[in-house]
Amino acid sequence: MNPIFANVETSVFETMSRLARERQAINLGQGFPDAPGPADVRAKAAEAVVDGWNQYPPMMGLPELREAVAAHYRRFQGLALDPNAEIMITSGATEALAGALLALIEPGDEVVLFQPMYDAYLPLVKRAGGAPRFVTLRPPHWRFDEADLAAAFSDRTRVVLFNNPLNPAGMVYDREALALLARFCIEYDAIAVCDEVWEHVVFDGRAHVPLIAIDGMRERAVKIGSAGKIFSLTGWKVGFVCAAPKIMKALAKAHQFITFTTPPNLQSAVAYGLAKDDSYFAAMREGFQRSRDRFGRGLAERGFAVLPSAGTYFLNIDIAPLGFSDDFDFCTRLVEEHGVAAIPASAFYVENAVKTVVRFCFAKQDATLDGALARLDNVRPR
Ligand code: PMP
Ligand code: GLN
Repeated sequence: MNPIFANVETSVFETMSRLARERQAINLGQGFPDAPGPADVRAKAAEAVVDGWNQYPPMMGLPELREAVAAHYRRFQGLALDPNAEIMITSGATEALAGALLALIEPGDEVVLFQPMYDAYLPLVKRAGGAPRFVTLRPPHWRFDEADLAAAFSDRTRVVLFNNPLNPAGMVYDREALALLARFCIEYDAIAVCDEVWEHVVFDGRAHVPLIAIDGMRERAVKIGSAGKIFSLTGWKVGFVCAAPKIMKALAKAHQFITFTTPPNLQSAVAYGLAKDDSYFAAMREGFQRSRDRFGRGLAERGFAVLPSAGTYFLNIDIAPLGFSDDFDFCTRLVEEHGVAAIPASAFYVENAVKTVVRFCFAKQDATLDGALARLDNVRPR
């Protein structure tokens, strides 16, 4: 068996969700909302299953969805994308990431990764033959500077994989940070694969800035989005990939041999959803922001050191001030003894570069959050 997948452990999300089920714990580990999601979008999908087309849709995605993605990104991010040459629909962002890495990396190419990194990145980069180079981001500010990038980029850099807003950190990078990264991508002639699945889940009046919109990046960025996050329907694996036509041609070749296509009924429902009024998107953000604040307040009242969260479904605590030194031990104890599942952020780092950050998903109804807080009353080292 290929050792890259044979030796990798089961995803921490799956492991923690399984533990949560076994222990009947409140699951604030894996990131998914516990509300049913927008009824009208789900009704559109149901209609499309019953009355619509259920055979293979076009490989690049339903035209109505590609047009809806272009209109959506024009409305919210000021992008001008050609739905016929620059947009492709995939089975979730995960397929888009896998396809981009397979299509763009040649064995031996260097790939710059920012850790903490989403768990799929490193195995996919390695399986594509890439040699990872890490930029390590640390709490509480998670920033990178010129020296960090200079240490990671080289003449062999082919791809940069960048997640913004950043899971698990809840960090949103601003235009200045993006411009610095763009400068390195241009100087080293690298392509940026931009995982922007959290683009709509940003708080406190922030607006997401896509890396592809920064000067010089239009022809060297692959922008990846996910309907699962935009509509709080994480099981809906519908992703969008945007890139200049020359790059898109290669991405399409990878897609045609991975999944080829994505269920047509979900595609039509997502096309409908992307055209919803601004008020839907604003209300979604406000709802999650309220949950963030409610849960963050409760954690702080219980003595936890809460890190800021500018976006995503996640809030982190630093467990060091309370006297804990190992996030895995902490999370194991939390689920086994207190009945609350969380994610140890060291799972997002190589070699445990950071060991004292624990991630909670706050995208839950008030009763779920309050129930979890009540179980976190007396968490102290033994
Ligand atoms: N990238 C990041 C950073 C994520 O957080 C997630 C899911 N939580 C994904 C990719 C996967 O998205 P999808 O479910 O659309 O495959
Ligand atoms: N992206 C989700 C999270 O960060 C989990 C997705 C998964 O389970 N693979 O929690």
